[in-house]
Amino acid sequence: MRARVLVTTRAGGRSAPPYDENNLATHVGDDPDAVAANRRRLAGQLGVDGVRFMAQVHGADVAVVDAATRDDPADVDALVTQAPGLAVAVLVADCVPVALVAGTAVAVVHAGRRGVVDGVVAAAVDAVRRLDSGPVVATVGPAICGRCYEVPAAMQDEVVAAVPAAKATTAAGTPGLDLPAAVRSQLADAGVEVPAQPGICTREDPRFYSHRRDGVTGRFAMVAMLSP
Ligand SMILES: [Zn+2]
Repeated sequence: MRARVLVTTRAGGRSAPPYDENNLATHVGDDPDAVAANRRRLAGQLGVDGVRFMAQVHGADVAVVDAATRDDPADVDALVTQAPGLAVAVLVADCVPVALVAGTAVAVVHAGRRGVVDGVVAAAVDAVRRLDSGPVVATVGPAICGRCYEVPAAMQDEVVAAVPAAKATTAAGTPGLDLPAAVRSQLADAGVEVPAQPGICTREDPRFYSHRRDGVTGRFAMVAMLSP
């Protein structure tokens, strides 16, 4: 089965500042009508009736959804589906969005600092493999880079103890975290293929929302679906 993976940008939606323009999140204080319009526009671009989001909690739980799933799953940070034409989406603004594609299953994952430590990436890979025993290919989307993500030294120590690849030094020479590198190492450890991709930093690239750069702001999406 063919799969599609895409990342939205800020451009082209109905949201007013500071959520301009294409905010897809309902939990950040934006006008619900604008978010609904932006979500309809995304579904239209994908050629589907609707896109399945989730109420993310920085945890490591995974939900499997199908065409009969009516509500967005709560308290999960990964969505898996085998339903052709059902788009699943993760919302981010600096955290790492990941898409997993297997032959008959796709997943999206929300991997922030907490999720990286708690193993959400491996949990999502396991969930995909329970449904499809073939190779899994990952796409790591735009996220804050190690030069931009400054954290207290104790926090860096905690994350690096769990995932050594997370260690970074910021442009200011202070302790940092490279979450995209951490996620890539976790994917490699799980035996997932991660094609070389240019790393896009959300804080440096104004096409994307960045919580670190903007504070109150919107969320963009990484979406995965099996072609109908
Ligand atoms: Zn950066």
